[in-house]
Amino acid sequence: MKSATMLQKLPESKTISILNKVATLKHEGHNILNLAGGEPDFDTPQAIIEEAENAMKSGFTHYVNSGGIPELRNAIAHKLKAENGAIYDPSQIIVTAGGKPAIYVALKSIINPGDEVLILNPAWVSFEPLITMAGGVAISIDLDADKDFKLDKDLLAAACTSRTKAIIVNNPNNPTGRVLNLEEMHELRDLAVAKDLIVIADEVYEKLVYGHHKFVSLASIPELENRTITVQSFSKGHAITGWRLGYLALPKELLSAASKIQGHIATCTTAFVQKAGVVALKDADVKEEVDYMRIRYATRINRVVSLLNQIPGVTCPHPNGAFYVFPEIKFRDYDSIELASYLLDEVQVAVTPGVAFGSSYTQRVRISCATSDEDIEEALMRIEKALTK
Ligand code: PLP
Repeated sequence: MKSATMLQKLPESKTISILNKVATLKHEGHNILNLAGGEPDFDTPQAIIEEAENAMKSGFTHYVNSGGIPELRNAIAHKLKAENGAIYDPSQIIVTAGGKPAIYVALKSIINPGDEVLILNPAWVSFEPLITMAGGVAISIDLDADKDFKLDKDLLAAACTSRTKAIIVNNPNNPTGRVLNLEEMHELRDLAVAKDLIVIADEVYEKLVYGHHKFVSLASIPELENRTITVQSFSKGHAITGWRLGYLALPKELLSAASKIQGHIATCTTAFVQKAGVVALKDADVKEEVDYMRIRYATRINRVVSLLNQIPGVTCPHPNGAFYVFPEIKFRDYDSIELASYLLDEVQVAVTPGVAFGSSYTQRVRISCATSDEDIEEALMRIEKALTK
């Protein structure tokens, strides 16, 4: 028996395969420090848990509207307008089981077989497989590390063909932590308008922006508002990765297609989790906790960047958002896979090889700072020991 040809070629998620290896090693009793994952170490805020519990106990455990419960869609539309200046009617929002399915629904709604979708490397590992699964062709554009991974309008324009349908923009970016500035957003707008592209704005790290940097939602940029699909998730900012809650907000013309997909693949997103989502958006204590987590990540990132930059051969730029660092490491001519394996075997520290985010990042690894302060200190000591051997 054979599975579909397209799926035989599809790689397993590169980050998930590392996490599986880490889980096996831990199970065998190894003291592994895991900086390869992408999930907050903080507990889910209590008010969110209580609301889900209350909703379950009061019988809110059945099918609900496939696009999402009205309270949550209203709260999301309000949040997008008030916090992001992005105007979507509640009916333009589809609540999904996390950001990943939101991206899939977005892609499946717009792609005809063979349509091309641009992605900007370094890029999160799942964009390319999600495009392939939706029947499209991913066109990767490698942004230049020497130019701080700045969006390059000439490279983007050169990658467009008559089949180019959309571009995925992840802001703040995983793995670089880069936050787009207004100039880049305007360049993106000019390109999208000139080439008639749909912009899929993956803004799942929106809550995690540091220093003087300001997060601006792409859907708030004039002329992008009617061609942007905004993808959001509660996973990272609210520390509810395992609950599975996210959404997409999309132009009216795409609503019917996206609603059909959501209805057929999911029926609806878990009812009581959606109730908890309303609290996540509205509750003042939750907002404080989200802010507290952001401050803690900022402190950890400062510490990690400073420690890494003290190690010979390591150059670590300071990220402005998300919770990763993406240093360049020059050690014994090792490429990023050899380096990640070496760190795991030699000092039991798991990091993600740079090539998971684009084939040209052969000298980089991604290190997650969503790990306890103690583990970060210990891991950085071990990394230094390994890299100074
Ligand atoms: N988008 C980006 C850039 C991510 O890094 C992730 C998770 O790592 C997701 C989307 C998906 O998040 P989730 O499906 O947990 O909401």
